[in-house]
Amino acid sequence: MLNKVELLSPAGDLERLKIACIYGADAIYFGGREYSLRANANNFSLEEIKEACSFAHSLGKRAYLTLNIVFHNEDIALVYDYIKQVVEAGIDAFIVSDLFLVKYIKENFKVEVHLSTQVSVTNMESVKFLKEMGVDRVVLAREVGRDDIKKIIDEVGLPIETFIHGAMCTFVSGRCVLSNYFTNRDSNRGGCAQICRFAFDINDEENFSMAVKDLNMSKYIKDMIEIGITSFKIEGRMRSPFYLAVVLSSYRRIIDAVLNDTLSDDLLNREVKILSKVSNRENSTHFYMKEADVSDQYYLGRGEPSNQDYLGIVIEKNDNLYTIRQRNYFELGDKIEIITPNMDIIDFDVDNLYNEKMESINKANIADSILKIKIDEDLPLYSMLRRPYL
Ligand code: SF4
Repeated sequence: MLNKVELLSPAGDLERLKIACIYGADAIYFGGREYSLRANANNFSLEEIKEACSFAHSLGKRAYLTLNIVFHNEDIALVYDYIKQVVEAGIDAFIVSDLFLVKYIKENFKVEVHLSTQVSVTNMESVKFLKEMGVDRVVLAREVGRDDIKKIIDEVGLPIETFIHGAMCTFVSGRCVLSNYFTNRDSNRGGCAQICRFAFDINDEENFSMAVKDLNMSKYIKDMIEIGITSFKIEGRMRSPFYLAVVLSSYRRIIDAVLNDTLSDDLLNREVKILSKVSNRENSTHFYMKEADVSDQYYLGRGEPSNQDYLGIVIEKNDNLYTIRQRNYFELGDKIEIITPNMDIIDFDVDNLYNEKMESINKANIADSILKIKIDEDLPLYSMLRRPYL
């Protein structure tokens, strides 16, 4: 009998958190305005953390706060009171990278502490030590392979979280100073400018980049569940609500099928296809089955076309008349797909389209405009319209 596992989503703001909750995440991690990496994500005020926790809890989901910058002396004075306030807001766990926070939180509060991937934990002795300190879960370094993950789980028995999808660092996460060097933005204090993605030119030779392909573990989820991984983490607190909805739905369907013993090649191939379309980068399984090598890198440049597949979201319904907030161009006659929080994917031919005043129009060409469409389906709120992926 396989253990229930957790699908863990990032959220850069409250809107993304709500989308993640209704599109299949079991838990959501996000940063506060202080002490969190990803300074460019909007991040949550204390009031928003409270709202995030109650929304997540109302749907039976969990909420985790990242506190994983590299702490200097000047960061410490106010963090204790901040943690107290976040605990009162209802947080379920802190994701930390500094050991003084493990000690402080475990001695003073009844919430979980997860050790961040920023610590680069790669071996079972470290995990044993962290377990003795009271850490409840370790997010392993992305650079740990399958056999080592299994050995750590079998030998130590502490819940283990691993990344399954999203961007990777060229260098071991948390040990890169490219951004600091080139832009004076500290990647370990939330300011990474993603310098490794830039094209470099050395001695007039061809341009090259240090960019790695994205991680995509969809084909190995069954194996990852079988070896005992507890939590499956999606990268990307700055990803769009559409990206989150598509990626979470796919992994939700795969995980549920594995747990129900109904995973088929057809289902898996379909989800692999969807996941490859939503991302604008190539992907790989990196370190899981082998040492990462040249096939996991770009080296000689890459295209990154912007994704305009997200056409709109259902924000109101009145019987079969749906109010849509438009995102990208579509027109009468287009064949589109509708994805729903129920995990359905519905084909639809756009055979009617109205503006907000119910005047008939033939194209949706104004970003963020409000449109109306009649659709003979019972769609939940927050269903999304997209270009066909299947
Ligand atoms: S520059 Fe690249 S490798 Fe370095 S921290 Fe940023 S994303 Fe990671």
